[in-house]
Amino acid sequence: MSDLPERISLREVGPRDGLQNEDPISTASKVALIDALSHTGVQRIEAVSFVHPRAIPQMADADEVWSGIERVPGVRYSALVPNLRGAERALQAGFDEIEVVVSASDTHNRKNVNRSTEESLDEIAQVIALAHDRAATCQVIVSTAWGCPYEGDVPVSRVVAVAGRAVRDGADSIGFGDTTGMATPPRVTALVGEMRMANPDAGVNLHFHNTRGTGLANVLAALQLGVSDFDASVGGLGGCPYAPGATGNIATEELVHMVEDMGVATGVDLEAMIGAAREAERLVGRTLPSQVLRAGPRTRTIPVG
Ligand code: MG
Repeated sequence: MSDLPERISLREVGPRDGLQNEDPISTASKVALIDALSHTGVQRIEAVSFVHPRAIPQMADADEVWSGIERVPGVRYSALVPNLRGAERALQAGFDEIEVVVSASDTHNRKNVNRSTEESLDEIAQVIALAHDRAATCQVIVSTAWGCPYEGDVPVSRVVAVAGRAVRDGADSIGFGDTTGMATPPRVTALVGEMRMANPDAGVNLHFHNTRGTGLANVLAALQLGVSDFDASVGGLGGCPYAPGATGNIATEELVHMVEDMGVATGVDLEAMIGAAREAERLVGRTLPSQVLRAGPRTRTIPVG
């Protein structure tokens, strides 16, 4: 395992991607969750998204959440935006790091935003330009990168072509999202490999779901290729929108627990992240899927009875 990265950069997406797929909670609860996460050592937090409240009522209070949190030095906070209008709102609110999302699957993109992938990419070029104009960075997240709930498998060539267009338009990095939890290790290796062949200089972030139990296996496959930028969600917050009751995002504390034991640094204090997961569970009022939250770290011992 000598080729593994020495450290990875983790983006905590629980407050945005996680809560977006949970029953709505109060603004104060969202602020409390972000504040707890800001003290775990995690260095990036996707805090909110600026979407139309009719589309995603869970994020209607993005401005209030953003102004309510404690901004901890050393933590980078970012916002997800669906379009130019959302980008304008995020930049206006003072974010200097935004993510914009497009689906590699035409059908999925049309279902989400009523336009083709190509049409979304045209607008994303403007989003990138706007962000740069305001001295902000813009990552383009390609969703359904390992499969679409309507079309099934999405060809790797198609996913890489969508990413390539965003790179040419100036995206600061590319995220690949396993929206449907269809990725497996060889599919991760295939996509990362083709992406690097086509766009060798592009930074790549990976966002895995554990819908079918392959989340951390996919992380391992990516680590072995030297990928060092991952998303994860505290407690595994956020279900899978296409499989009711199923698990969605991989849990941050599970990722930290595994990679730290492999000698890969995350900067995250595992016990603090488990504490934040416990808090997340309390705030959403349901049992979260994280197994490390249930069992504790592998070094936890019990008193001799
Ligand atoms: Mg997700």
